[in-house]
Amino acid sequence: MDKNNKLIELDGSHGEGGGQILRSALALSMCTGTPLRIERIRAKRPKPGLMRQHLTCVLAAQEVCGATVIGGELGSQTLEFRPGQVHAGDYRFAVGTAGSCTLVLQTVLPALMLADGPSRLHLSGGTHNPLAPPFHFLQRSFAPLIERAGTRLDLTLRRHGFFPAGGGEIEALITPAVDGLAPFDLLERGAPLDAYAEVLAPALPRGVPERELEALARLTGWDPSQLRVIPARQNEGPGNALMITLAHEHLTEVFVAFGERGLAAEDVARQVFAQMRAYQASAGAAGEHLADQLALPLALAVAGRGRPAAFSCTELTEHSRTNFAVIERFLPVRFDSRLEVSRAGQQWRVDVLPG
Ligand code: ATP
Repeated sequence: MDKNNKLIELDGSHGEGGGQILRSALALSMCTGTPLRIERIRAKRPKPGLMRQHLTCVLAAQEVCGATVIGGELGSQTLEFRPGQVHAGDYRFAVGTAGSCTLVLQTVLPALMLADGPSRLHLSGGTHNPLAPPFHFLQRSFAPLIERAGTRLDLTLRRHGFFPAGGGEIEALITPAVDGLAPFDLLERGAPLDAYAEVLAPALPRGVPERELEALARLTGWDPSQLRVIPARQNEGPGNALMITLAHEHLTEVFVAFGERGLAAEDVARQVFAQMRAYQASAGAAGEHLADQLALPLALAVAGRGRPAAFSCTELTEHSRTNFAVIERFLPVRFDSRLEVSRAGQQWRVDVLPG
């Protein structure tokens, strides 16, 4: 699948200019054996350069493939990454703060999905962070789609971790596809199967989850059986997330809003409800986050088999477009997107074509 082994140089300020460029580039460098140099890392963020969470991604990637790394330090805005052989195995990666450990998984997962044997990862840090995939999204939404490509991804949540205390733990078992990843299409949601909301509120007064669910009940008209509180484990929290899960025949979507001091329970409910309504107003299968997370594994499958894949999504964000551009630098694939309007609503269709 190697397009070439010449060093790829990326400008981290391109497009959306955030940490996704780094994570996708690391993942693809490992998968293709291509050396990488990134400058102006996270240039469009208020605190540019490698923060703890990004550095953990770099170090995790280095450990999995024995890479030679220059610039792997906190605050660094330039990184050179020369990958070696990817090794399946047992790994422990700790962000060390409440930074998202799901983004560390996002970095090393693609290479381990293509490795020569199963891997077990123990990840610690934040499991439910704003601006990162919450554990429940990965488990319900992302993992089943990865499995459609032929890989098994079994995720277990050992402890919830929230900002600022962290302390969350996730275990991930990755069983690579026997014949490499298989491309697939995800153009429709299929029939609705289930809809429910859950609150996580460890170490918070009982009134918090109750008020959030009551507010959500008023907005959705849902039955009490669809409104649940996830019990806290010992010493978890404090933290608060309100999640909505919509299960369909072909995919499940998970929306989340986070409670914080000074934010009314009703506002948390309104935020997550608004995300669900925006999703429902479109006919696209994947929501905006699933769309950008699906792109890389699908592109690997397309490049590996030389067959196209396609998905539809509700929105095509700058984040997704930036991710597509990074992927196209590493893999012989092309993303072709177009807006479609039908009576069911507006949606984007993204074709991933062998290039
Ligand atoms: P930074 O530069 O601060 O690291 P970033 O550009 O890496 O930012 P984001 O654009 O916020 O970070 O996205 C990080 C990842 O988290 C993306 O893969 C995005 O799809 C995912 N993500 C963010 N919010 C959610 C959510 N609510 N549900 C699922 N995934 C999410």
